[in-house]
Amino acid sequence: MRITMIGSGYVGLVSGACFSDFGHQVTCVDKAEAKIDALRQGKMPIYEPGLDQLVAANVAAGRLGFTTDLAPSVAGADAVFIAVGTPSRRGDGHADLSYVFAATEEIAAAVTGPTVVVTKSTVPVGTGDRVEAILREKRPDIDVAVVSNPEFLREGAAIGDFKRPDRIVIGTDDMRAREVMQAIYRPLYINDNPILFTGRRTSELIKYAANAFLATKITFINEIADLCEAVGADVQDVSRGIGLDNRIGRKFLHAGPGYGGSCFPKDTLALLKTAEDFGSPTQIVEAVVKVNDSRKRAMGRKVLAALGQANGGLPSDNGARGKTVALLGLTFKPNTDDMRDAPSLAIAQSLADAGIRVRAYDPEGMEAARALLPDLTYCRDAYEAADGADAVVIVTEWDAFRALDLDRLKGAMQAPVLVDLRNIYRREAVEAAGFRYTAVGR
Ligand code: NAD
Repeated sequence: MRITMIGSGYVGLVSGACFSDFGHQVTCVDKAEAKIDALRQGKMPIYEPGLDQLVAANVAAGRLGFTTDLAPSVAGADAVFIAVGTPSRRGDGHADLSYVFAATEEIAAAVTGPTVVVTKSTVPVGTGDRVEAILREKRPDIDVAVVSNPEFLREGAAIGDFKRPDRIVIGTDDMRAREVMQAIYRPLYINDNPILFTGRRTSELIKYAANAFLATKITFINEIADLCEAVGADVQDVSRGIGLDNRIGRKFLHAGPGYGGSCFPKDTLALLKTAEDFGSPTQIVEAVVKVNDSRKRAMGRKVLAALGQANGGLPSDNGARGKTVALLGLTFKPNTDDMRDAPSLAIAQSLADAGIRVRAYDPEGMEAARALLPDLTYCRDAYEAADGADAVVIVTEWDAFRALDLDRLKGAMQAPVLVDLRNIYRREAVEAAGFRYTAVGR
């Protein structure tokens, strides 16, 4: 199959590289010239484990190419995937579909024969109808089917997720489009990965329902963590105790600083907007969004409280002014360089508001972080970040932070305070090393 992937970001580049690895002929298009230039030189514009080797192997095999020129790659393609961004629209929280529609217009101008246009971007219910209307209006001469095929990969584990997905969802009523999609995903079909064929609107909604459900699970356990702190229980045991029940499942039950990233925040908001537009409110998701927003700010207060306690003072920001805090991990999760809506942004802001100097280290996210948090002092590793700090805060659970040399860390610090927002340490071990330890829900 000849596939064109429009948008070569976290989803487009991984999907394109994986499709080429299945044996398809793939062209990844992006209008960001710097991205395409980098890819042509074998440099990855994002950090995703294993992606550089996958891309290199398929470029070498002649199955994967990169271009900024959309038109020639669309002409003659069996399928054109739209994998551009759908961020929150400024001001109202609706999904901003301007990139999707701009790509659609470009496709309309470029198609030369029957093809299948696939929305892989996360798009609200009804977007496929609008994409189809644009194509029909601009190109009544050409038979183009529009399919919804949402992507469920996770950054940091994207290649594995793409190649061994829990399921593939394909929304279309068009038999020819269905055959094309079947041919594209055949290598996975053979591996017995379930493919769910459904209507286009249903497929669009499945993606939002999945993300809203996962965001709800995280937010639920975060509230239970607060309750654990209040009553003297341990949230990790509660998670295990409920997660071992197959009806509940153990995943997404790790208490922490609140969900962030490039998907959950914007997708929960967009779902609320769809629900509002259709007069069918989703009150659970509304509560999830509210609770998660306030949680990120609460994490800043948690750090201030830890500083206050170390000071023997009140858990207010008064005693904290002029102190230094080291943040370990800035990206929204490990194994990515993605800083979009990361909890670290809200935490760093509330610390800065309280007059605290912030030092930081992240294994892969510092370049992206610098643009968003220019006032932080960026360090080469965890120990340099801890130098002179009154508290070290683990914000993202990178492997590099799981087995820190606590003696060395303490030796570098002004005061031995460890705030573990990911619950990756055991209290006894940290306290035995002479630290004052604050965790989440324990
Ligand atoms: P991204 O910002 O990393 O990549 C989007 C790319 O599209 C950018 O490189 C941009 O330059 C390019 N682009 C925009 N308009 C273009 C055009 N007209 N022609 C060519 N290129 C164009 O975004 P992403 O994280 O890959 O997300 C893409 C979509 O996938 C979003 O809808 C997102 O919600 C969804 N999604 C993302 C993830 C994830 O983990 N990032 C997971 C599942 C689904």
